[in-house]
Amino acid sequence: MTDLVDKLYKDGCLSKSEFTELINSGDKYREKLRALAEKLRRENYGDDIYIRGLIEFTNYCKQNCFYCGIRRDNLNCRRYRLTSDDIMSCCRQGYELGFRTFVLQGGEDAYFNDDRICEIISAVKGKYPDCALTLSIGEKPKESYQRYFDCGADRYLLRHETASKEHYERLHPESQRFESRIECLKSLKEIGYQVGCGFMVGSPYQSAENLARDLLFIKELNPQMVGIGPFIHHSDTPMRDFKDGTLEMTLLMLSIIRIMLPKVLLPATTALATIHPRGRELGIQAGANVVMPNLSPVSVRKEYQLYDNKVCTGEESAECVRCLKKRVESIGCRVVVSRGDSKNNS
Ligand code: SAM
Repeated sequence: MTDLVDKLYKDGCLSKSEFTELINSGDKYREKLRALAEKLRRENYGDDIYIRGLIEFTNYCKQNCFYCGIRRDNLNCRRYRLTSDDIMSCCRQGYELGFRTFVLQGGEDAYFNDDRICEIISAVKGKYPDCALTLSIGEKPKESYQRYFDCGADRYLLRHETASKEHYERLHPESQRFESRIECLKSLKEIGYQVGCGFMVGSPYQSAENLARDLLFIKELNPQMVGIGPFIHHSDTPMRDFKDGTLEMTLLMLSIIRIMLPKVLLPATTALATIHPRGRELGIQAGANVVMPNLSPVSVRKEYQLYDNKVCTGEESAECVRCLKKRVESIGCRVVVSRGDSKNNS
């Protein structure tokens, strides 16, 4: 007899009510989804796990997302910005450690205007033409995205956060509009970036139906990457009292996304590693194929605190990579030196 998992595998999608049922079914389909997702990851990417060097270059942010530790109104956040030299030295170190993708992530910091961002992109791509450069710097006008792309940026990560307008409005102040976020993702795709969207699992007020809508949105956008991780509260935000997302639900979502988009790039995130000591390994076994260790200088790591108790804030980059390689090998996979482009090129 065929069930919802077979149908998802066969059709690559389900209806909203079927996704909601799958999500609500808990243990019933968990192992079947996981095993199928792991099989699809191996069929498409073998044992290869891609690494991205994450450089968190500024924690200044003009936005005020209710859940985020670097939100504008968090006065307890010690703000920092890396200089261009700092960023280049992170890349140099990363290159020597085998990274061929750098991810520049930060808050929406007006200091880094388009000219400055373009200078950084040109410097990184000029020095490391064999590497991919990913930006994750929030919502910008389409012309800015185009300028960054013309300077050589290859990829852009912008989590949609939630595909339900009413839910978006509960997570953000009025000044932040759901429609703008979605428009940004469409612009990025039109320009030709390899695009990543994503959401937090277990974010405040999230229902199974919200998650089902996220899945349908992802299917329609057909991105090259999907970044998901559990929501984890931050004690200096208005959402400090909400429960954290769970390991089980995050793994379930990773597996569903792998089955829905078999070639997608799917990170096992730091947030997942924060809620469980073997979170990254379990994420890979549930279908993830990317890890993003931190290349930011240790002196600022603790200040990029999106949520409480973030892991891997104390070790040098080389140590982080050694530890990750061991973890990845412990489950029969291997970290590869490669740009790690998505095979989902449509
Ligand atoms: N400013 C850029 C943007 O808006 O895309 C990039 C930085 S932003 C801090 C990166 C991501 O962190 C967000 O898209 C959000 O999903 C995640 N994040 C923020 N606060 C979080 C929390 N409390 N728990 C888990 N993830 C969180």
